[in-house]
Amino acid sequence: MFDDLSDLYQQVILDHSKSPRNFRVLPQANRIAQGYNPLCGDNITLYLEMAGDVVKNVAFQGSGCAISKASASILTETLKDKTTSEIRSLFGRVHDLITTGKCDGDPIGKLAVFAGVHKFPARVKCAILPWHAAMSAIDGKQEPVSTE
Ligand code: ZN
Repeated sequence: MFDDLSDLYQQVILDHSKSPRNFRVLPQANRIAQGYNPLCGDNITLYLEMAGDVVKNVAFQGSGCAISKASASILTETLKDKTTSEIRSLFGRVHDLITTGKCDGDPIGKLAVFAGVHKFPARVKCAILPWHAAMSAIDGKQEPVSTE
């Protein structure tokens, strides 16, 4: 498990998995996506409230391992007030960070805690799961979206 993640970042991951932020149903959500990782059993539902192409509110529910919960928790803090194009570009960088431990461009803030995950291939899917859910949520067809 993540007990082997030998960085200071372990603290942040533990904190977010024990007390996940925005862990609730979002009744006013207009985008909802599921993420399921059969290898680990992680199962999350992500709720987005979008106004145009800006994320106004974001929350999640579900169950899973510490890494998937922490990733979903940090994701909800990260996506608020971002536009869909910002989220798309962030997804690419987070994907690089989680799979290789490296990421180009601007500092990525709290997301840097996932830089150690690539050393544990079984955990990569756990960390990336909420991001895939976020991408399908913003690509959702529940209301017309203008393509940028
Ligand atoms: Zn997991």
